Amino acid sequence: MSGRVALVTGGSRGIGRAIAERLAADGLRVALNYRSRRDAAEAAVESITEAGGEAMAVAGDVGDGYAVAAMFASVEESLGPVAVLVNNAGITADDLLLRMKHEDWDAVIQTNLSSAYHTTKAALRGMLRARWGRIISITSVAGITGNPGQANYAAAKAGLIGFTKSVAKEVGSRGITVNAVAPGFIETELTDALGEGVRDALLPAISLGRFGTPAEIASAVGYLASDDAAYITGQVLVVDGGLAF
Ligand code: NDP
Repeated sequence: MSGRVALVTGGSRGIGRAIAERLAADGLRVALNYRSRRDAAEAAVESITEAGGEAMAVAGDVGDGYAVAAMFASVEESLGPVAVLVNNAGITADDLLLRMKHEDWDAVIQTNLSSAYHTTKAALRGMLRARWGRIISITSVAGITGNPGQANYAAAKAGLIGFTKSVAKEVGSRGITVNAVAPGFIETELTDALGEGVRDALLPAISLGRFGTPAEIASAVGYLASDDAAYITGQVLVVDGGLAF
């Protein structure tokens, strides 16, 4: 993997940061994208650099095609063409469908799903030239099972799965694999918002009896990004401690 360039969207915090750290430890040069919290992105870059890796932070809203084009231009100029793309940036804006605001529907679809349209198209150009590439999107078990209060989020995450399988079929002959990882409940700021009571109520449904860690999702991504996973494409790897099966 040494020297290849990875771009991790939403790589400044939570699962994305763990993925960026893992890929850097595996020898990739990592660009980690963020939207607004520059301090978090800089802290992630510092932690990777201190561990002997190479990383840069790049700002940009992944739901905005122009911002994504600018982000790719900056990464390619500084590090070179992107060989491993991890579509990780995501948000939630939960509510029951009847109460859901149209802007919350749009924001969640744009950030979680349209983002993959923008980034994957931009990354594919270099990957097709290199005849090698890895595209890994972070979906969710909510996109497989559905979840009350998350019609927007589950629709976006299910959409990512259809996107993954379709693009895998389009580019497989060029040495590019396209897969998804579907986490269950993982300890991040996204799930901190659930509150202690809701978290305790969820535990009995998880076979392993605990939330997962960002590093446990990063392990799955690290594997799919590696040459060991060269014959795996169009798949959804569920990493949920035995929640949805
Ligand atoms: P966090 O909320 O901890 O981190 C989100 C990251 O995404 C931040 O780096 C944030 O940057 C970035 N981000 C958000 N919106 C944008 C945007 N428009 N453009 C660029 N970057 C953006 O999330 P998690 O680590 O928990 O989640 C990561 C992914 O995993 C998401 O796709 C989520 O849906 C998925 N997932 C998470 C689960 C969990 O239990 N935590 C379970 C299943 C799936 P900034 O801080 O600058 O805004």
